[in-house]
Amino acid sequence: MAKDLRVIFVKLADRIHNIQTLQFHPEERKRRKIAEETIKIYAPIANRLGIFRIKWEMEDLALRYLDPDGYRELTEKVSLKRQEREKYIESVIEQIEVKLEENDITCDIKGRAKHFYSIYKKMKYQDKTFEEIYDLMAVRIIVDNIKDCYGAVGLVHTIWKPIPTRFKDYIAMPKPNMYQSLHTTVVGPDGEPLEIQIRTWDMNRIA
Ligand code: AMP
Ligand code: MG
Repeated sequence: MAKDLRVIFVKLADRIHNIQTLQFHPEERKRRKIAEETIKIYAPIANRLGIFRIKWEMEDLALRYLDPDGYRELTEKVSLKRQEREKYIESVIEQIEVKLEENDITCDIKGRAKHFYSIYKKMKYQDKTFEEIYDLMAVRIIVDNIKDCYGAVGLVHTIWKPIPTRFKDYIAMPKPNMYQSLHTTVVGPDGEPLEIQIRTWDMNRIA
């Protein structure tokens, strides 16, 4: 594996197929073992290689076997299906793009719907309820300079109202680890919280 990186890709592909079809494995003890190995070893490797698509699918599928009740509760709370959540993010990105373009701010926007295992971990390790998680839906706007960061946040707040306590200016006050960005949570198009991070390319590189 260390000599030829292609081996890792084959192993990741094999493993994701195993876990996608894990329900056909006859032995409960083995199902658990495979799920555990997937979440502890394979998902972190996928993450380290930057293959987020495989990482989250592995983690979400493994969680089904490691904590079936916890998983079911989550799927009931996150009412939209994965595809619907991705469509929501796309439409939000489009609205921001139009608004920023109209105001001559060049931007690159990415977004994601938080995956089940990430929600699960945040609730468990940060002792939060589902309702206390504000970044279920989130986008990140990257602009060319600091002036545009503040311009962009103002424009975003004209589309959706900000939640008062959720604005953070880590540009004026960077985190101790040098992280800089503007963070805001707004009331999104369907009345749900939507997290927005705004930063320059430089800040993104440091993050
Ligand atoms: P998380 O969902 O927080 O576990 O993070 C998973 C991935 O989503 C990471 O690659 C993060 O960089 C990314 N991410 C986190 N917050 C945002 C955001 N506001 N906009 C876009 N991507 C994000
Ligand atoms: Mg977050």
